[in-house]
Amino acid sequence: MIVTDEVTKMTVKPRKAVLEMPEYHPPLAERTALRLDFNENTFSPSPRVMEKLKEITAEGLTKYPEREPAERIAAKHFGLEPEQVLLTNGVDEAIHLICAAFLEPEDEAVVWVPSFFMYDVSVQMMTPNLRRVQSDASLEFPLERFLAAITERTKLVIVASPNNPTGAVVSREHLLAIAKAAPHAVLMVDEAYYHFFGESMLTDVKTVPNLIVTRTFSKAYGLANLRIGMVVGDAELMKFVRKVSSPYNVNGVALDCLPVALEDEKYLAWYCEQVRVGRERVMAGLGELGVPFFPSHANFVLMDIGPKHKELVAAIRAHGVLLRDRSNDPGCEGYVRITIGVEEHVTKGLEALKASLQEIGWSAKA
Ligand code: PMP
Repeated sequence: MIVTDEVTKMTVKPRKAVLEMPEYHPPLAERTALRLDFNENTFSPSPRVMEKLKEITAEGLTKYPEREPAERIAAKHFGLEPEQVLLTNGVDEAIHLICAAFLEPEDEAVVWVPSFFMYDVSVQMMTPNLRRVQSDASLEFPLERFLAAITERTKLVIVASPNNPTGAVVSREHLLAIAKAAPHAVLMVDEAYYHFFGESMLTDVKTVPNLIVTRTFSKAYGLANLRIGMVVGDAELMKFVRKVSSPYNVNGVALDCLPVALEDEKYLAWYCEQVRVGRERVMAGLGELGVPFFPSHANFVLMDIGPKHKELVAAIRAHGVLLRDRSNDPGCEGYVRITIGVEEHVTKGLEALKASLQEIGWSAKA
């Protein structure tokens, strides 16, 4: 072996797509305050999950995880066949796998904006041909323009319903129309926030061959740190997604906890009701304060703060509450998002919001 002190110049280049794709860096530092910034469950997963975690053994940690038993349980729980279900390392991985399975560099993908930025990242890892269909000022789903953006080259269409960061929803009828308009493309409906809305396309995978639905256990179930999500689709379609996934993509702790989290429907219903009631309180509170907001069907509300958006986020941080500035999202100039959690956290969030708006001298016209 020749050892040299010379610094060799890096000549290795990634794929062109990797050079050009955007990066996603959520503001993760020092999230020790009340977390109303990432749309997480603000409280806890089911107590049964906490009990299950006590059963972790040293030997258990030495073993590679087995995904299939949990997949069978999840399939039964949701009235599906195991072949229609793939568990993933959160929906983030699901998006990645779907793009890897279906997109060639010359293909096109269509997304709605503003929406979840990981769609941009994963699509552009495979192809530069990303068509973004922007909402108008109403932030509602632009159905006509969305349908018009679908071409013969469209291979993937992604719609989050409820959408993030707006909380807007797309009706089942409109989603079915999209699936029909693009039979040569996969329609991915991201139902990460389904539990706070209640309408789903999950069972439509039995009759719509190009539909894929994604669900996360990060939000209502409170398992964001375990990283577990689910992809559901026609068994033939799912074969390709499964093929590009590692057999060990989901850790065994998450796989062990999933069945008990699914079983505890009472806890899930309780948490979702906390959010529904809290969401009404927040929207009413914003109304009283004169803060314009987008009516939400998710566990967050997007507020129109205007030019003082940064000041508000800094001021409320000093009160021990984190909010997410969404001003950089297309069409969201001046918008700040607040997560809705359990009653106590909603109360704290609202009080801190009121005090912070006062401190920064915010007024409805500012
Ligand atoms: N989809 C949407 C619309 C989201 O907002 C998020 C998380 N912010 C995700 C997917 C990612 O979820 P997971 O934690 O399962 O990766």
